[in-house]
Amino acid sequence: AAEWIVGTQNGQGAHSVELAKRHLVQPWPEAGEIGSEARALIEGGEGIYITDGEGKRLIDGPAGMWCVNVGHRREELARVMYDQAMQLSYNTPWYTMNAPSAVLAERIAGHAPGDLSHVFYTTGGSTAVESALRFMQFYNNVRGRPEKKLILSRGGAYHGSTYLSASLNGRPRDRDWMNGADDLVVKLSSPNAFRRPAGMTVEAFADGLVAEFEETVQRLGADRIGAFVGEPVQASGGVVLPPGNYLQRIRGICRDNDILFIADEVVTAFGRLGHVFASGEVFGLDPDMITFAKGVTSGYFPLGGMIVSDRLLAELRRSNHPTAMYAHGLTYTSHPVGCAVALANLDLLENGVLEHTRAMAPYFQAQLKTLEELPLVGEVRGIGLMACVECVADRESRNPLQLDKNVGERIDAHCHELGLLVRPLINMCVMSPPLVITKEQIDDMVGILREGISRTMDDLRKEGVW
Ligand code: PMP
Repeated sequence: AAEWIVGTQNGQGAHSVELAKRHLVQPWPEAGEIGSEARALIEGGEGIYITDGEGKRLIDGPAGMWCVNVGHRREELARVMYDQAMQLSYNTPWYTMNAPSAVLAERIAGHAPGDLSHVFYTTGGSTAVESALRFMQFYNNVRGRPEKKLILSRGGAYHGSTYLSASLNGRPRDRDWMNGADDLVVKLSSPNAFRRPAGMTVEAFADGLVAEFEETVQRLGADRIGAFVGEPVQASGGVVLPPGNYLQRIRGICRDNDILFIADEVVTAFGRLGHVFASGEVFGLDPDMITFAKGVTSGYFPLGGMIVSDRLLAELRRSNHPTAMYAHGLTYTSHPVGCAVALANLDLLENGVLEHTRAMAPYFQAQLKTLEELPLVGEVRGIGLMACVECVADRESRNPLQLDKNVGERIDAHCHELGLLVRPLINMCVMSPPLVITKEQIDDMVGILREGISRTMDDLRKEGVW
């Protein structure tokens, strides 16, 4: 192995931790630690497992960041990247093109709902959302509707870390210390039914969300609203499922008011819910645009994209505007290595992994649901192979635990010791393992999580804070 592929075998692990503290800026750092922080070193991966700096094997509970869908160390994928790089490692998308990007676009179009049959490739999810929003602006400018630019987003949403995509984020921690395009974005309520007012039915909660949407369109005027952006299942907000048929109703309101409905499927596409896209096959939605990333390459290459409806493209072509240009492109748009590995990844999904995911999902959800027996657990919710264990101080009032008790991080620390990486989100733990997980591995995962939560309950009791 090349010398920079560090490993415990050659003693580079500890050294790299030192280098990280001196030279890395980690993502999402706190001010007091910025530029001086090392994180748990991960040195290898295979299937659903990763290996940490001590050589300890852990189940990769969050599949990286919801992305390593077909699992780690797939030789088929590694080889395709090598072969494509040896054939053509890069081409200039300004005035040339490569075959893998076109072949992949055709395959993606075959899975996408409605008339979504054109793909614009990006470097990941943030740039996919950014591209979709800039497309909406361009579309309305060309149509002579420059005032139709407001974007509706929701509490609990996560859409990225570029300026406009980040402006849509709905979790307070994402926005408290950062600026955003607040003149362009209007926030709606979170669709998290677990946090609905006491005594309210889920149906009434969904009705309330729809009413809020309608009132917002009324108040601002449809001629000022360009798009609604939403994750079919909010991921980073805590695996929030759309209550009732509220999303379908919102879709209808958007259609009636000429508001583009953009489904952010960065997490839900490419297998997480057992289908290539969740919008159509799981939720019966036909968005105007879909954004995707992560699972498209199972995290082996930074790639994302947006899929655009033919209707919108045809309208732009019909305008035949003499000067208007969608002045938007990235150096790595349509990257041949990314598109080649995405094709090989899609082969794996179509030839067994999607089917396996659909077969495992009910077992995965049922086993995790048993954790609701633990008094610290307020709710376990999920769909497909994504789930969230939400901890509460008090089950009756659903009172969330205080931030300073960092329950998610405590559970994660115990689970790490026991052989499972979880993704802590304040008082929640998110589970979204590689889709190739087996029943036995699900049992292991849930067993460790149960023990991790039990140990956390013991700690909290001992400290007298719960
Ligand atoms: N949209 C959603 C729904 C996401 O979950 C994420 C990433 N967690 C993004 C967009 C941003 O993607 P990226 O980190 O690849 O830029």
